[in-house]
Amino acid sequence: FKSKLPNTSTSIFTVMSALAKQHNAINLSQGFPDFPSSKKLNDLVANAMNTGYNQYAPMAGNLDLRLAIAHKYELLYKSHYHPEKEITVTAGATQAIYTIISAFVNKNDEVIIFKPAYDSYQPAIEINGGKPIAVQLEAPNYKVNWDEVASKISSKTKMIIINSPHNPSGTIWSKEDMLQLQKLTNGTNIIVLSDEVYEHIVFDDAQHQSVCLFQDLKQRSFITASFGKTFHNTGWKIGYCCAPDYLMSEFRKVHQFNVFSVHHPSQKGIADYMQDSETYLGLNAFFQQKRDLFLKLISESRFKFQPSKGTYFQVLDYSEVTDEYDVDFAKRLTKEFKMASIPLSVFNDNGKDDKVLRFCFAKTDETLLQAAEIVNRI
Ligand code: PMP
Ligand code: GLN
Repeated sequence: FKSKLPNTSTSIFTVMSALAKQHNAINLSQGFPDFPSSKKLNDLVANAMNTGYNQYAPMAGNLDLRLAIAHKYELLYKSHYHPEKEITVTAGATQAIYTIISAFVNKNDEVIIFKPAYDSYQPAIEINGGKPIAVQLEAPNYKVNWDEVASKISSKTKMIIINSPHNPSGTIWSKEDMLQLQKLTNGTNIIVLSDEVYEHIVFDDAQHQSVCLFQDLKQRSFITASFGKTFHNTGWKIGYCCAPDYLMSEFRKVHQFNVFSVHHPSQKGIADYMQDSETYLGLNAFFQQKRDLFLKLISESRFKFQPSKGTYFQVLDYSEVTDEYDVDFAKRLTKEFKMASIPLSVFNDNGKDDKVLRFCFAKTDETLLQAAEIVNRI
């Protein structure tokens, strides 16, 4: 048979986590915490299982959870999403992203993505017959050149996928960036997919610029989010998306046939847990302490960096250490130094190698101390 994704290979996250395991290395590659999710939350999920939440959830998600999500948008952004019509619970952000793309992208439609880009966007576009149009963000600042974006928008542009806070670079978009996007999309039929999975991990008192804060953008946008990132349980695979009714109703036509509904007890447990808004509002400070610890510990190393502004990733420039290709260097560090990271070239346009590796600092302080000790030895 002819492969539908001839240029796609195993995700770098799978590759590096497997290599870390094989070599018994500290794993700062794939983005997940090495500490447990809250006992209170785990107990609430167990309680949901013991009190009858074991059959199919409603297709769009447990209503208590959709109410809790709607409340969060009112509280943080003064933005209204109708819990019954405009919010759908998904199997992680990955499923939301895939389903949004398959619900709207037709053969030969163009989709603008910003590289380095999270690795699930491009295959999801391609398998639906769409054409990814890359805008390369340049290290070390990863700023958007809005003239370039304007030049790549055409009558074929169906969608633009954005992601702030940005995985893998750890940069965030400013209000000015959002206004530029709003200006460029006004008067078009372009749908915006705004991947906001790290919305609660923003540092130094910066404000997360959600698309829902910009009225014209909100009207054409999906937001995708992930409880795995917010509540330290990436293995549960619960996320959601929000969008105006006219977009969400199309999304649900596909959602109901590629998953129908997702794990019910986790949804009810998360809904109960979110009744206290501190459960998500406290995350910025929690991860800022980890970023600061890691950066202080490696400040004398040969790696150069600009502090991450959001996400739980820090990129380090190793150009003073070696000129090895980043994939080779990341693999060698795992085998010889027992520390795994993610090379950025795999997320770039045409595999562009800036000699940069991504390190996940969602780790116990003890793990960060061990990792820093290795970084300082390289
Ligand atoms: N988007 C980005 C930018 C991510 O980093 C991740 C998780 N690594 C996802 C989407 C997927 O989230 P989930 O695990 O909820 O599917
Ligand atoms: N989002 C995680 C990361 O960026 C990985 C998710 C995955 O492995 N699919 O590391």
